Amino acid sequence: MGGNTLSAPDFKTCLQELPKVELHNHLEGGAMFPDLALKFAQRNGLTLPFTDQETASAYYQFDSLDQFIDILRTTVSTLNTAEDYADAVERHGIEAKRQNIRYHETFVTYGLVASRGVPWEAVVEGLAEGKRRNRDQHGVETAFIVDLDRTLPEDMALEHVKLAVSARSTVDIVGMGLDCQESGWPAGRLKSCFQLAKSEGFRLTAHAGEDGGAESIWDALNNCGVERIDHGVQAVEDEELLKLLADREILLTVCPVSNLRLCVFPSMRAHSLPKLVEAEIPVCLNSDDPPMFNSDLVNEAEVVYETFEFSQQQIVGFLRNAIEHSFQRTDHKSALLSEFDQIRDKYFD
Ligand SMILES: [Zn+2]
Repeated sequence: MGGNTLSAPDFKTCLQELPKVELHNHLEGGAMFPDLALKFAQRNGLTLPFTDQETASAYYQFDSLDQFIDILRTTVSTLNTAEDYADAVERHGIEAKRQNIRYHETFVTYGLVASRGVPWEAVVEGLAEGKRRNRDQHGVETAFIVDLDRTLPEDMALEHVKLAVSARSTVDIVGMGLDCQESGWPAGRLKSCFQLAKSEGFRLTAHAGEDGGAESIWDALNNCGVERIDHGVQAVEDEELLKLLADREILLTVCPVSNLRLCVFPSMRAHSLPKLVEAEIPVCLNSDDPPMFNSDLVNEAEVVYETFEFSQQQIVGFLRNAIEHSFQRTDHKSALLSEFDQIRDKYFD
């Protein structure tokens, strides 16, 4: 690639046209666009603290991860049936198609709904139907990563891993991860869950180093054997960790707008992304929970480009990293990479 720089509109067109992959987007929070949450609430005879887009925007205000999760849990209380799940997965597919995201790995956190008695069978039925709609009607390939709620008792978390194993033939569950409250809930507490998931052939990742420090990332790497880290932005505290992440080419699925909205950094300029890139750690960009943070993948790329001194080619490289480090089949990955490179080379000589 040469050093040409595109005009802002051309760069936007390029970002849109590239065939993309997104690796860090949650089924529950990521589908809770106010219209969908309200539809689910009506269908299930529930009420929400908002009635339309405007009041929803006022409600989706938070200044910490814990506060965000409380709001998320209230909104996600509307998600109850197989039909709700199918519609939620399809909304992810529609949003993906709009941005030319061809393949996405979506986190599903059964712990968010299990305590309300939502049967796992209904979740699986909905995921399978949503995935079918995305493939047949929207041309988007959807895979799932079952995320454990960090705060679950170990025996219950193990049950969730077993449920995920039982559903593999019905839906495309490619991996296991970890999310929800980080501080005070070490990943190593659920080590046995990761051992079981690994023995069953799941790929492994974990949310770590978001509002927890570098030690939380060490914990996920050393005790859970994860291959990727979701967020990982606090790794900058620790030189030794930065080197290890770079040497082992462990991808960080970074979500800049989410980090800003959850006050992980006081401003976008203060974000650790440039230091992570300088340390030669592979990163990709992600929208986390787009309706809650008012973002999407293309927007993340634009915000990062506008905020920092990255070249356009570097931004494109972050998008390419997501394809390379995805948990999809190698032949599918190669095909998408070659299409990606062809389009990239059309813009950059
Ligand atoms: Zn996340």
